[in-house]
Amino acid sequence: MKILFISAEVYPFAKRGGLADVVGSLPKELVKMGHDVRVVIPAYNDIERNYATGDLDIEPMPIHLSVQVDGIYTEAGAFSGKLPGTEIPIYFIAHQLLLGRPEIYGYPDDVYRFAFFSKAGLQLMVETLDWTPDIVHAHDWHTAPAVTWLATAGQSDQRYADIKTLFTIHNLAHHGKAKWHIFNYLQLHTHSLEEEAYDEVNFMGRGIYHAHKVNTVSPTYAGEIVTRAGGTGLSGLLQHRGSDVSGILNGLDTEVWNPAKDKNLKARFSVGKIAPRKKNKAELQKQLGLELNPDVPMMAMISRLDHQKGLDLMGEVVYRLMEGESGPVQMVLLGSGQPEYEEMFRQFADRYPGKMAAVFAYRADLAPLIYGGSDMFLMPSLFEPCGLGQLISMRYGSVPIVRATGGLADTVEDGETGFVFDTYTTNSFWHAVQRAIYVYNTDQPLWKKIQKSGMKQDFSWGQSALRYEQLYKSMVD
Ligand code: ADP
Repeated sequence: MKILFISAEVYPFAKRGGLADVVGSLPKELVKMGHDVRVVIPAYNDIERNYATGDLDIEPMPIHLSVQVDGIYTEAGAFSGKLPGTEIPIYFIAHQLLLGRPEIYGYPDDVYRFAFFSKAGLQLMVETLDWTPDIVHAHDWHTAPAVTWLATAGQSDQRYADIKTLFTIHNLAHHGKAKWHIFNYLQLHTHSLEEEAYDEVNFMGRGIYHAHKVNTVSPTYAGEIVTRAGGTGLSGLLQHRGSDVSGILNGLDTEVWNPAKDKNLKARFSVGKIAPRKKNKAELQKQLGLELNPDVPMMAMISRLDHQKGLDLMGEVVYRLMEGESGPVQMVLLGSGQPEYEEMFRQFADRYPGKMAAVFAYRADLAPLIYGGSDMFLMPSLFEPCGLGQLISMRYGSVPIVRATGGLADTVEDGETGFVFDTYTTNSFWHAVQRAIYVYNTDQPLWKKIQKSGMKQDFSWGQSALRYEQLYKSMVD
């Protein structure tokens, strides 16, 4: 099958979260199965800059895209390259709307930026490159305009009419709301959805409504989003799609995330030879100004600092830990996001030097050292569609402490591979943390057993890629 991945992010070119990891790794598995897969993403500022400095192996394409939006033709360009380490073609749509901004998201015209990208991406593949996919696999609201366009205006254009669409929800919390004018901009006609207020378009809802099939990134999250509590206002629409909605657990790119080969580690290790982990812990302590102590339990969190990630539970728990209620501990935070959470961790780091370190940046080089050096990894998420942090932490021997929600519930087993709590309260979280510290301090053989059984879990894409293949097949047959 010819499958086009259209996405706002792809690792390693543009990453803000797990979406990038999925789009960077699932195509590799599908190609191994014999499919023809291509990827299209926007050319952001970073990508153009890295091209200019020769850091990225991509080149401008000698083409002019003339994209019809808002009743006029708008010129765009494109770059092309390969997903690193593969022969998978990747294309980058270049236009002022997408370039020229320091960030990927967060602008008032984001809906127009991604609507433009969605339309230009389809046009590049189908009209300019004459490569018509059997399946367009779109991800989150940013590329829902492609799904909407294909289901409406695209139906009267023979070049597009037969393309099937899969819409993957990576995070239902972000809807991508626009004014109705966006449909004039995209030059399509449709009716409004019950979920849309007057003069409002909800692209997450549109993706769910218009795609041939819809899936999300874990079975438990698929069950949660059809409920009123978890549906962010779209549960009715999801229920309406019935069995067209499924959950497929994300895999991990086990070539990228491999503690036996990871060059960002001070010392590489594996489940059979775990002792070198200690050197990573020592290196972290040294780099981050923590007390040098091999025995103190070290907690870690690597996360976007967003409400979703359970940060409202962190304050009290970190305070009690720092005050020594569970004996000596250290805590490392790597993340950036909402200013109030950054401020909270900044205050902790100031107040407890040597015990608490916080790095407010996106650091792909530092994350592996934290996964491979810390003892416990905290993910008390309010909701978690799949979560990659807990998969990586298990593979790197940092035992996860998680709340039983979404993909966390599907991947971490209490007392076997980690520590799990149910209710979203400080108290429940604190008890899980205490249980972990107790085992660590009093029963090292059991601790090692939990740690190693996490490291042995198979989170590679194998099974999940097969399920995606089945889903694609069910649409084209
Ligand atoms: P989400 O997609 O909701 O952000 P996931 O757990 O699915 O959460 O994926 C997060 C990914 O981003 C993981 O690979 C994690 O290691 C990485 N990550 C998050 N914050 C940072 C950061 N500040 N520096 C480096 N990597 C980060």
